[in-house]
Amino acid sequence: MKNRYDIIVVGGGPAGSWAAKHASEKGASVLLLEKDREIGTPVRCAEGVSELGLRRCVDIQDHWIAQIIKRVRLIAPDETMIEVDSGESGFILHRKLFDYDLAAMAAKAGTDVLTKAYVYDLVIENGFVKGVKVDHLNQIYTISSSIVIGADGVESRVGRWAGMKTHTSPLEMDTCVQMTMTDVDIDSDVAEFYFGRDIAPGGYLWIFPKGERTANVGLGISGIYPKTKKPLAYLQDFVNRKFPNGSILTLVAGGVPTVPTLKEIVRDGLMLVGDAAHQANPLSGGGILNGMIAGKMAGEVAGDAIRTGNVSAKKLSAYPKAWHKAEGKSNERCYQIKKFVVGISDDELNRIAHTLLKIPTEERTILRILKTALIKHPKLILEAIKVFGKGSSR
Ligand SMILES: Cc1cc2nc3c(=O)[nH]c(=O)nc-3n(C[C@H](O)[C@H](O)[C@H](O)COP(=O)(O)OP(=O)(O)OC[C@H]3O[C@@H](n4cnc5c(N)ncnc54)[C@H](O)[C@@H]3O)c2cc1C
Repeated sequence: MKNRYDIIVVGGGPAGSWAAKHASEKGASVLLLEKDREIGTPVRCAEGVSELGLRRCVDIQDHWIAQIIKRVRLIAPDETMIEVDSGESGFILHRKLFDYDLAAMAAKAGTDVLTKAYVYDLVIENGFVKGVKVDHLNQIYTISSSIVIGADGVESRVGRWAGMKTHTSPLEMDTCVQMTMTDVDIDSDVAEFYFGRDIAPGGYLWIFPKGERTANVGLGISGIYPKTKKPLAYLQDFVNRKFPNGSILTLVAGGVPTVPTLKEIVRDGLMLVGDAAHQANPLSGGGILNGMIAGKMAGEVAGDAIRTGNVSAKKLSAYPKAWHKAEGKSNERCYQIKKFVVGISDDELNRIAHTLLKIPTEERTILRILKTALIKHPKLILEAIKVFGKGSSR
């Protein structure tokens, strides 16, 4: 570790590694700091991505893929089961291997990667972010840089240290809990989503197969519902019913901000990417690919800024502009749809399921389902068409 770099990236998740890799490829000297002892652990994620979406981000390596998903099943509160034609395959990743390899790719491009490196503050001079303070193996270091990229995830503090408004109302946070279970009876190429107030109020429960008789089983509950029953209790009730003989290999909890991207994601010498910038999809909660897309954009803009010697917020604003055009606008649309769907009653969910049963399976696309759910809200249908229309990889 040197005491000065062009760019320091805080956080070694998909967003951070991808920002680091692309900034290195622009010729900048880059340091990636990760607080945990190993990149990729602990995994707090259901690990699902669309195949097309992943292909657009990176050349896929076989060992990342725990399971190929061919079909999607939605289960209404009254247990009506709807098979959906998702139009494309999905993958359940081994995120531990995936995140590890993304960081290794950044290193190969020239980034210095350091784990057990906890960033606890920024260096700010005359309004410009000029580096970080880091605790590495109980030694304190100040490392200078021209740009800091905050990729420190959902509990991000980098933006807050610079005075940005990064707070999310608890009402806009989904609380998630997940078990990786084995010895469970599942269809190993089908992803299942369960809905209903007794299952996951305002959210959904997922079963994502991860190989033979193993699956990520988790749920997210919208912050708008009272916390009278804990998310873990909902999950335990479900798995006791559905998988009474299953064993639990991991248990993790985490939050997902289901909000549009933060209004401000760059300042003089500072950029935020991934969950730190609230770039996950507010409807699905998916943030792996969004983090990579944003990471690439931020890394490239940062690399260019270093070359020109101008790291002002104005110069760095090419990144939020590119993000907004590519994904940010879609995320805002998903947010409008999410605000409506979290309030749908169980009776209405059952009605939607019964209507969908009358449609042939191959016509039950995500867009068709949303159109059925939003039937009385033509404005939201238009938003859904813009997001989930032809060519979508969501
Ligand atoms: C239960 C659950 C299920 C999910 N399922 C899916 C899914 O199926 N598909 C999907 O696409 N998304 C899913 N997500 C969301 C997805 O996990 C995140 O959107 C994604 O990981 C964001 O990537 P990131 O790089 O922004 O942040 P992270 O992956 O969170 O990486 C941030 C990194 O920063 C490090 N860090 C934090 N603070 C510091 C610091 N001060 N100093 C140094 N390092 C620091 C952390 O240790 C971490 O490694 C899920 C989330 C949860 C909670």
